[in-house]
Amino acid sequence: QQKIRIGIVGYGNLGRGVREAISQNPDMELVAVFSRRDPKSLEQRGESVRFVHMADAERFREDIDVMILCGGSATDLPEQTPQLASLFHTVDSFDTHAKIPEFYDKVNTAALLGGRLSVISTGWDPGLFSMNRLLAESILPEGKEYTFWGKGVSQGHSDAIRRIPGVRAGVQYTVPVQAAIDSIRSGETPELKTRDKHVRDCYVVAEEGADENAIREAVVSMPNYFADYDTSVTFITMEELQREHSGMPHGGFVIRSGVTGSGTKQRIEFGLELESNPEFTASVLVAYARAAFRLAAEGQVGARTVFDIPLGHLSPKSPEELRKELL
Ligand code: NDP
Repeated sequence: QQKIRIGIVGYGNLGRGVREAISQNPDMELVAVFSRRDPKSLEQRGESVRFVHMADAERFREDIDVMILCGGSATDLPEQTPQLASLFHTVDSFDTHAKIPEFYDKVNTAALLGGRLSVISTGWDPGLFSMNRLLAESILPEGKEYTFWGKGVSQGHSDAIRRIPGVRAGVQYTVPVQAAIDSIRSGETPELKTRDKHVRDCYVVAEEGADENAIREAVVSMPNYFADYDTSVTFITMEELQREHSGMPHGGFVIRSGVTGSGTKQRIEFGLELESNPEFTASVLVAYARAAFRLAAEGQVGARTVFDIPLGHLSPKSPEELRKELL
């Protein structure tokens, strides 16, 4: 059987994760990696991958079935997905929650125009967490839902620390409050404020001679990022930061606590514990690339979210094989 021919657009953490994930899926092959950077600079890494400049992507229309878009949500994907969606079937992990409806409309228009199929905003949140929230809410309409993130590195909060004068480097972990999780698991449905759900732990390398107290104050009082949380700031050395804090772990839980009948308690929980956020997200994108390919083969066009895609389409197995595994 013909393999699904994949292209990767954008070669950061996610792009590298997708390359690795494709090698775990024998029904797929990587055709090329597209980047805005000079392909020669990427070739120097010595990886056995074909690098092509983004400007030449269109030439690959006949050679690639699905483009997996791995650019950043802030500025790359709003431009790249609508641009490529009329040329290729695409999958992306656009995660700016408030802008998803607007993004959907743009991508849908482009995909319909080109007769292509685009899966938007997949990954784990949005993505697997969104699916589990929908599942739990549909099954337990009377209930309360909670999402906890972490323990994991938040890129946005880490960047915010690094912008403070006197800071050389820094990493921020979002950590769920165990007491809150325990209370929900015991069947309670508490009203939780921002501060009750997560704490923020920061590890900071200060510049030589910098005032640590001033840095700590600047972190904990920063509006939107830290002021609404209990935040700890620990000063460490550069060596310690590189040794202990260079991974990109993440994860979390979606919990819905509800009642059925005359007040019988029911609870649904979905959790992730990830040693590498980008490698995991990449694995989700690759499974959805298969689904995009299948939907397109059925003649479907336009944009789709995880809510619109039959679960069986994610699997390399046939519907007959999957039916045998129902039990
Ligand atoms: P990166 O910052 O590593 O990469 C983003 C882009 O920046 C790349 O596509 C690449 O484009 C460019 N880039 C990467 N490294 C370099 C470099 N050394 N020099 C110059 N340019 C570089 O982001 P991530 O891969 O970690 O994440 C991408 C997005 O994935 C995030 O913005 C987030 O929105 C999303 N995400 C979604 C999740 C979900 O659950 N839905 C979970 C995790 C992430 P180019 O090759 O063209 O230069």
